[in-house]
Amino acid sequence: MKRIGVIGGGQLALMMGSAAQKLSVELIVQTPNPNDPAVSIASNTIFAAVDDATATAELAKQCDVITFENEFIDIQALSKLATDKVCFRPRIEALSPLLDKYHQRCFLQDLGIPVPKFTLPESLFAVSSQTIQYTKITFPAVLKARRHGYDGQGTFIINDLTSLEKKLYQDPGKNHKNNLIESHFLLEEFIPFQKELAVVAARSTSGEISTFVVVETQQEQQVCRRVIAPADISLQIEKTIKDIACKVLDNLQVVGVFAIELFLTNSGEVLVNEIAPRTHNSGHFSIDACFTSQFEQHLRVVSDLPLGNVAMKIPCAIMVNLLGYETLKSNYSDKRSELAKIPGAHVHWYGKSESRPGRKLGHITVLFDKLNRDEAMTIANNIESIWYS
Ligand code: ADP
Repeated sequence: MKRIGVIGGGQLALMMGSAAQKLSVELIVQTPNPNDPAVSIASNTIFAAVDDATATAELAKQCDVITFENEFIDIQALSKLATDKVCFRPRIEALSPLLDKYHQRCFLQDLGIPVPKFTLPESLFAVSSQTIQYTKITFPAVLKARRHGYDGQGTFIINDLTSLEKKLYQDPGKNHKNNLIESHFLLEEFIPFQKELAVVAARSTSGEISTFVVVETQQEQQVCRRVIAPADISLQIEKTIKDIACKVLDNLQVVGVFAIELFLTNSGEVLVNEIAPRTHNSGHFSIDACFTSQFEQHLRVVSDLPLGNVAMKIPCAIMVNLLGYETLKSNYSDKRSELAKIPGAHVHWYGKSESRPGRKLGHITVLFDKLNRDEAMTIANNIESIWYS
């Protein structure tokens, strides 16, 4: 497998670039804009939206296998291509239960994997002639767009009925008090978690699975700010999480890398929040901290190479996202050089043409030669005060 097609040209595809070089494989990218980050590392680009399956058919002619850097695809159209012998890794059947957050929750529940209690908002409405009664909702609750949410866009913490109604009726066209059809949202219980955790796992064509170390992720306003590797959890919890990863990847016969985000509750229960069927922000630390990065591991399994060693090279690492905080065309070179002076720091910049509030512009990983999470958190705070000053 020498030519790999990648649907999506954002930073996740960009970060496959150096792994592709190392493995001597070519990346051919399908992405809409010439400014998209991965255009710079692609050996060829098909400029088209990621859900343009006609463009993907064209991509297929130039590649041995096609993989994904995001999931905003047209799954039905890609299923047709798959029956026409286009090779997707992961296969389309492995993606289809996961793209809609409601279907994903149902899939996990059917596998016996614990998830937050969830429902469709429309199932809670008893519609009479002019009024709607809501049953069984405890606030706070979490309302999530079933598709196309990312970086917390599409996830809302809802504190009362009025706010819930406002969100539901804003939803384009569908919801009217007397005519509730389908809301495009999932409603679930708010989990007052102790920690958020994540694991990245890869499964090869022979069914072998390797999991990176479990990490702690820290979100603010539903957006990931920091990732600490390894997470401060017991061996038992680590095993529970790795068992969940194996169950999901085996069940779906995945070939590729998946990330699983989880909640750890105060009573020590582990619930799955979300599965991302691709490389993920929670695995970026692996570029600098592990012998094999999540991007190399993904390309290895997709191109039929043996799994790499995912052990950490050092005892501790922290990754801090560099998020946009203004709308500006700038490459922030001064701040980046200041950050690069931090001992053990590796700065990654995605080359986006414009900064917007909340946009992921880059990240920095700092490596430590001792396991000291307090020190790592202090460094993360320093990084954020330099970046957001
Ligand atoms: P996205 O897919 O956009 O990343 P998520 O569903 O992962 O959105 O939610 C983003 C963040 O919102 C989570 O990391 C967590 O901090 C918070 N969150 C999501 N669901 C819940 C929940 N049920 N209870 C508590 N917090 C939640």
